[in-house]
Amino acid sequence: MNTMKYLSTRGGMPPKTFTEILLGGLATDGGLTIPDAYPRLSKEELAAMRGMNYRDLAFEVIRRFADDIPAADLKAIVDKTYTAEIFRSDDITPVKTLEPGLHILGLSYGPTLAFKDVAMQLLGNLFEYVLEQENAEINILGATSGDTGSAAEYAMLGKQRVKVFMLSPLGKMSPFQTAQMYSLQEGNIFNIAVKGVFDDCQDIVKAVSNDLEFKAKYKIGAVNSINWARVTAQVVYYFKAYFAVTKSNDEEVSFSVPSGNFGNVCAGHIARQMGLPVRKLIVATNENDVLDEFFRSGAYRPRPETKHTSSPSMDISKASNFERFVYDLVGRDPAVVKELWQQVDAGGSFDLAKTGHFAQVKNFGMESGSSNHANRLDTIRQVYRQYGTMIDTHTADGVKVALEHREAGVPMICLETALPAKFEETIREALGCEPERPAELADLEKRPQRFEVMESSVDAVKRFIVAHCG
Ligand SMILES: *Cc1c(COP(=O)(O)O)cnc(C)c1O
Repeated sequence: MNTMKYLSTRGGMPPKTFTEILLGGLATDGGLTIPDAYPRLSKEELAAMRGMNYRDLAFEVIRRFADDIPAADLKAIVDKTYTAEIFRSDDITPVKTLEPGLHILGLSYGPTLAFKDVAMQLLGNLFEYVLEQENAEINILGATSGDTGSAAEYAMLGKQRVKVFMLSPLGKMSPFQTAQMYSLQEGNIFNIAVKGVFDDCQDIVKAVSNDLEFKAKYKIGAVNSINWARVTAQVVYYFKAYFAVTKSNDEEVSFSVPSGNFGNVCAGHIARQMGLPVRKLIVATNENDVLDEFFRSGAYRPRPETKHTSSPSMDISKASNFERFVYDLVGRDPAVVKELWQQVDAGGSFDLAKTGHFAQVKNFGMESGSSNHANRLDTIRQVYRQYGTMIDTHTADGVKVALEHREAGVPMICLETALPAKFEETIREALGCEPERPAELADLEKRPQRFEVMESSVDAVKRFIVAHCG
């Protein structure tokens, strides 16, 4: 068997397999892990995928990347993950048609009502499998302002060899987000409410992870958005949506992707590289428009400050997965990537406008646009009035930009990255009514909560981990 090799975008890591990079974050040289080549699907292979259910499709896509896991084991992991019990329907990611040629890809039917569940649920089961094989354990340490942390906790619930220590800013999340995390009672989940803001939480996580001795002794790991398995799992629904809105594999579609760390749209890029007939991939940002600026001008200028917006899960000033795309853009030359990110890591920026590389962007189908609070409210209203569909604030950013990039005859698929129930306040502001909420979550805020309040202190967090990892 020819096992897929994973390299670093900066060229300084010996080749590894999928399971070898599964539990890790950055590559050993500070770059991101990437396959040495994307699997290219033949016409026959693509034809055979049409009509498959989500589980079979997921297996077909993921096995090409996770080829060091025995096929029968991987199939069992995928089958256990993508069920109607967890994702509310056997469709897993249902497509809703607003009007002919304009669609919403529902990615938010997992336990936390946001698209991160699609990948994170698989990650939880992959972690469990690999840790069992290796007779190992992991303690996941993370910081969250709401979405990622809860998706990670729901993915790791009750997993034998995994504990989750999740830091969140006390009193700074919405009541819904707070309840979603703090109401979990499972013994392997620890919510730590830090007296501070999100950045304090993140600084603590960084400080603990930089203590290499502590990190090794207490088996500290992470599940952040650069995790390769998460990107892989997200490739699947681009295929799912493509087959749902087309009749033959000769047709092209475009996708609009509400973007922050570039993980979701990176998966779309990989689907396109695998041979899925994607015309355009539209990167939609909010007021934090570092990615929009790049795709319009060629300049990548991470911002010193992040703006707090009403699509908060896209509030980033530096797009952590972007390096994977730039690697492909510069012809997979790690020396170029290394040089560019030397500038970024030193707090600087780079500009590809005057290089031949930027001219290549159009060959990758990438376009972009941005949205702001007023646009968001207008789009939520417009979609509700015109189609009777309520969309959340992030999805609204995607739809706003999608409508500016639509072309006659090319179906446009807008990725729905969260349900409106998660962002009640802005929905109320836009529509003057409450968003509908899945019935089983009706009493969410009334459930008993279990969390630890802590000063913003690295030592306090370390002591807590030590006490609970005996
Ligand atoms: C994480 C998130 C995004 C951004 O996705 P990236 O992969 O970071 O680009 C968009 N919308 C919602 C609701 C999210 O949770």
